Parts: sequence; C-alpha cells; structure tokens
Amino acid sequence: MLQNIRVVLVNTSHPGNIGGAARAMKNMGLSRLVLVQPLDFPAADASARASGADDVLSNAIVVDSLEQALVGCSMAIGTSARERSIPWPLLDPRECASKTVERAAAGDEIALVFGREHAGLTNDELQRCHFHVHIPSNPDFSSLNLAAAVQVLSYEVRMAWLAAQGEAGGEQKQDVAASRNGELATLDEMELFYDHLEKTLVDIGFLDPEKPRHLMPRLRRLYGRSEVDRTEMSILRGILTETQKVARGEPYKRKG
Ligand code: SAH
Repeated sequence: MLQNIRVVLVNTSHPGNIGGAARAMKNMGLSRLVLVQPLDFPAADASARASGADDVLSNAIVVDSLEQALVGCSMAIGTSARERSIPWPLLDPRECASKTVERAAAGDEIALVFGREHAGLTNDELQRCHFHVHIPSNPDFSSLNLAAAVQVLSYEVRMAWLAAQGEAGGEQKQDVAASRNGELATLDEMELFYDHLEKTLVDIGFLDPEKPRHLMPRLRRLYGRSEVDRTEMSILRGILTETQKVARGEPYKRKG
C-alpha cells in the first residue's frame, strides 16, 4: 500500500538533498521517488547522502515536467514553506498523512510534491495539487531543508500507516472504495478535462482569455475537491463536447 505513494521533487539543485530525501523515505518505508528535471543527477553526492538507500535512487524516475510526474495519480498534495501561498485547501502534516494512507489503501496513487530549495513550487505547480500542506514551523524561520521536509511528511505517513494496521482489518479501505462507483479519474485525465473545459468556456463566451479572472484556478479547486470518478469524467467530457457543438451552431439531437 505504501507503494501507491510517490514522492516528487521538482527541480532540485543539490544532489545531496535528493540522497537525503531517498534515505528519509526508505527509513519510513516509502520507495517511489520521481525527480522533475533535477539539476545534477545521478551524482556522487546523492549516493553519499542516501547511505544505503541506493535502491530508492536507482529506481528513481526522472521526468521533464510535473505533469509527467503525476501521470496515474488521483491525488496530489503540494508542500509549501509558507502557511498560505495561494488560497487553497490546506492540511497539516498529520491530516495529510491520514488522507494519503486512506486513499492509498483504497488503491489510489498519491503524490507528495516538494519544491525547489530556493523558490519552492510555483503557483501553477501548486494549483495542480488538490491540497497543500505546511509543516507548522517557526514563522520567523519557516523553511526546512528539503530532505528534512521529506522526512517529516514521510514520518507522518508511517505513523498513519502503523495506526491503520492496528485498526479492524482494513475497514477504512472498504469505506472509501464503497463510497464511489469506480476508480477515480487520474490527474492526467483531469488535465485533459481542464483543457477541454477552458476551451468550451471560451467558445461559449463565459471565459475571456484576455481577462481570465482566476476562473480556471477556481474551477480546478472545485473539481479537485470532488473526487471525480471515471464514469463521472466521461459524463463531464460528453457535456462539454455537446456544448461545443451547440456553440458552433450544429444542430443537436434531443436525447431520450
Ligand atoms: N524559499 C522557498 C523555500 C523552499 S524550501 C519558499 O519560500 O517557498 C524547499 C522545499 O522544502 C519546499 O518547496 C517544500 O517542498 C519543503 N518545505 C520546506 N519547509 C517546509 C514547511 N515548513 N512545510 C512544508 N514543506 C516545506
């Protein structure tokens, strides 16, 4: 079940931090590391800091964009050294861990996303995540070392996982799975949907590309909260396709 959880590091500058993150993960039972355009990897410093977690490094997947890193995931949680970077559903590390473990146990793929040492995650990257998590550090000195932040969240995931092991045989898992019709839409499917939605809203004149007024981020937040499953996704896509036809002036068939 912990295999359903991936740690994504975006644009890491120091290979030592990648090694440190790998070690922190393995200590806590996590193994899936995804690196988005690391500046320097593979590197001797990474292996040195991993000290024994070389398998996590050698299995690490290197990709070109956050979008690629999230393929197959149905929930992404972005980390931020600041308490509120942009208005978004915010979790503390403990809530983050229990949500992550609950969803991973139901078979969903989850990503925990970490930012650059100097600049964190961009607003665009943060908006790709369903939730944000902030480690409640000293407000006057709030930014942890990247590998230390990975350690704190991985530890919380382990604690939540251990607690779930102790609970009556996987009841939680069934609850989450039973509460929906089928598999959740993945983040890549959601991205295609947001693209389609945006085009449709432009087609019908609801969205002015010159003055977007934060409409798409707001809609992302709305749909991101909704745990859209695959059947619901094809309904939404179908509605958009028909809306576009009407906007183009094509005759439409009344169904039913
Ligand atoms: N100057 C950057 C700091 C980035 S620290 C900024 O202001 O955003 C590098 C990364 O470590 C962050 O992107 C985040 O992934 C993680 N991190 C550091 N401190 C954190 C905290 N208090 N809570 C959550 N994540 C944190």
